[in-house]
Amino acid sequence: MTIFNRQEHQRKHYQREPQDFSPQECTTKVVVLGSGNPFPNPLRMGPSFAVIANGTPYFVDAGEGIWRSIARAVTHHPAVLEPVMTLENLRYLFLTHLHSDHTIGLPSFLLSPYKFNAPHAKEIYGPLGTSNLVEHVLKAYEVDIDAAWTRSGHNPMGWRANPHEFNVAGVIFEDDNVQVEAFRTQHAPLDNCWAYRFTTNDRVVVLGGDGRYNAGLVQAVMGADLYLADVVSENNLKHAPWGGELEDKVDAIKKYHLLPRDLLRIQKESGVKRVVTIHEQSFMPDDEYYREGLVDEIRGLGADFELFSSIDCDIY
Ligand SMILES: [Zn+2]
Ligand SMILES: [Zn+2]
Repeated sequence: MTIFNRQEHQRKHYQREPQDFSPQECTTKVVVLGSGNPFPNPLRMGPSFAVIANGTPYFVDAGEGIWRSIARAVTHHPAVLEPVMTLENLRYLFLTHLHSDHTIGLPSFLLSPYKFNAPHAKEIYGPLGTSNLVEHVLKAYEVDIDAAWTRSGHNPMGWRANPHEFNVAGVIFEDDNVQVEAFRTQHAPLDNCWAYRFTTNDRVVVLGGDGRYNAGLVQAVMGADLYLADVVSENNLKHAPWGGELEDKVDAIKKYHLLPRDLLRIQKESGVKRVVTIHEQSFMPDDEYYREGLVDEIRGLGADFELFSSIDCDIY
């Protein structure tokens, strides 16, 4: 099975430039650094996001390409992001779960800023297993770390990372800019998946992570201003490259991700105002593909709320 032949998808993907859709009156912004999933779409980096509160970025997930995508986002939105995305500010990261598509950029997040003598230790929040991951990434790169530290005189704090594991829902982080609450979600077969709800001085924004419909997700999104949601097409599931009969494909995907009808249910129960799709899986055949296909499918079910299909470097 080849996974590198979806040229038509890729050509049609770029029908617009990244945009800033955030309400102008709000200082809290969410940057989509990676709108993709494990599929190797060269135009979508792996899942990663930044919530900007009071001029400080709080990163959520570290998918493939996070470091380069930060740079690209700054070039598209210099007025908003140049003062924010400084070496000193690359500090806080929250992992929704430990699937590799959400964490494979961790070595880059930890070590690329260090190449340029970033001054601070990183603070990494995540489920059980986060300490193991952080510790072993640093161990794996000890030759590189040692060379930069001992031979170039870089600040030794710059390569360090403090893991903060948690296993109970509730407030897991708080500072002058933001309060972060974690809500347990369900994303088979992992036991430890979390949605993050950021409350700032002017917005409540929720990064749902991957997961199926579940009570924790509804709670996380309750009354929020903005929700970034992982959604999979139901209309085009027959074209999914895995599973057997259509019924098997539906059963399989329902354990991992939201179908459009699940998203509608969450929106209805939570009253969230604005929804942005991420981690999209549309499965449209090449000759029918268009980038807004999945959100049109959601609208077709009667969605009457603000709904966006994100691309990398959009701001919401
Ligand atoms: Zn994922
Ligand atoms: Zn996942």
